Amino acid sequence: MRTFLGLLLLAACTQSSPTEFESFLSQQPGKKYSLLIQDGQVIDGLGNDSYVVDLLIQDDTIVFIGKVDTALMEVEKTIGAAGEVVTPGFIDMHSHGNPLETPDFQNFLAMGATTISLGKDGSSPDYENLAEWMQLVEDTVPGVNIAMFVGHGTLRMQSGIKYNPRPSEEQLEKIGGLLEKNLDAGCFGMTTGLEYIPGFYAPSYELEHLAKIVGEREKVITSHVRNEDDSEVGSSIQELLNQGQFCQVNVSHMKVVYGQGESRAEEILDLLHQARQSGVQVTADVYPYTASYTGISILFPEWAKPPNDYQQVIANRRAELEEFLRNKVNQRNGPEATLLGTAPYAGKTLAQLAKEMNKPFEDILIDDIQPGGASGAYFVMNDSLQSRFIADSLVMISSDGSPTSRHPRGHGTFARIIEKFVVQDSVLTLTEAVRKMTSLPAQTMGISDRGTLTVGNKADILVFDPQQVHETATYEDPFQLAKGMNYVIVNGEISLENGELSSQRHGQMLRK
Ligand SMILES: [Zn+2]
Repeated sequence: MRTFLGLLLLAACTQSSPTEFESFLSQQPGKKYSLLIQDGQVIDGLGNDSYVVDLLIQDDTIVFIGKVDTALMEVEKTIGAAGEVVTPGFIDMHSHGNPLETPDFQNFLAMGATTISLGKDGSSPDYENLAEWMQLVEDTVPGVNIAMFVGHGTLRMQSGIKYNPRPSEEQLEKIGGLLEKNLDAGCFGMTTGLEYIPGFYAPSYELEHLAKIVGEREKVITSHVRNEDDSEVGSSIQELLNQGQFCQVNVSHMKVVYGQGESRAEEILDLLHQARQSGVQVTADVYPYTASYTGISILFPEWAKPPNDYQQVIANRRAELEEFLRNKVNQRNGPEATLLGTAPYAGKTLAQLAKEMNKPFEDILIDDIQPGGASGAYFVMNDSLQSRFIADSLVMISSDGSPTSRHPRGHGTFARIIEKFVVQDSVLTLTEAVRKMTSLPAQTMGISDRGTLTVGNKADILVFDPQQVHETATYEDPFQLAKGMNYVIVNGEISLENGELSSQRHGQMLRK
């Protein structure tokens, strides 16, 4: 008996123990896999060091990360990724676009963004219940995944508060009810656009009331703050931090209009870090350009915008309006620094238009363009200040772009981060840049199954050589697709292969 046991033990010891992959396979008898990504330098998205490993995908899910023995199983497609990096698909914390009109979103896919977020700056589609709109988007099958937010400005209009600076108890209940309904429909949070009408009119008691509702549901407020000018941005961020007592908050496209230098950036960043230390869950996103892009109404005073009658303003306060616009534009680096993005002015600066039309730029703004009449790019930011923001640990990357807006950020942002901020200028390591474009936005929005390369997560995956990634969009030609992605995989399906975009769409409407 003793001898027999001894022999058994000996046999067990000489037989090699099963590999990690063999153990994995033994739990999944007879399975055929859809995709294998072999020998890539894997960056997990969390900021950890990269390492060479294989990824195995079944349908839309990452099922194994480790050394895969191809002799032991069948797989439909293998991507050899030796010499390239493999990362999670990028997640855009602040985007624009209409998936019912332009569902392809090739601008985002070509630069590696597999998930975007919409409903930003306080404005979402005018549905009292966005569940309905989300279903339409789902039926369309967008090219990228979409995380939806409900806009506070839209809720203000729907609830009847509109331009009222002092909503009543009853109105607060109404807007709160609409917010609840949309959050429960699967929105990831609420956005505010306090520099825009009607969000501009919201008092702190309204915003804090809504923040409590957002907080109860463990969601986030992401805010285009009240005023991004150098003199006002600190107090505007503080207003958001006050809402941060009740829910998680994020500063959208953080910038300091006509502020200068790294130390100014550090003053603003200190606000965020101090708030974190006192328990406020605050983050920020930034796009890597020094020109903003928005409606021309940003230049006009509040008294020339709805609900005020514009024609009456021109009739009664014209001289005052001229002076306001002259000062505002000059303070924002002058008419040369305002590049129009809408027909028939697209591609021309306000200075060029003034010369061509032979009249002062303020008259062109008042009579020819008018507050709602155009969008433009405004060269109002400082490179070293914005770069200091991008380097901070609490700051993630967003594009604030869309397939159709005339600013290169919509087609270039994520490629520019890799090309300029990682490869050329070494502002960020590649692993840190990837973290800012994957797990950090996923955590901020509360997307739990994307943004990292982890077993069980959805297979949104990029394969590329960082040296080959290039932004080609410019202010003159903003619609050129980024170059250098070899593979873009969305929900386990190949959306871009060897640089070529697929005609099939594989995105999903996400819900939280
Ligand atoms: Zn905005």
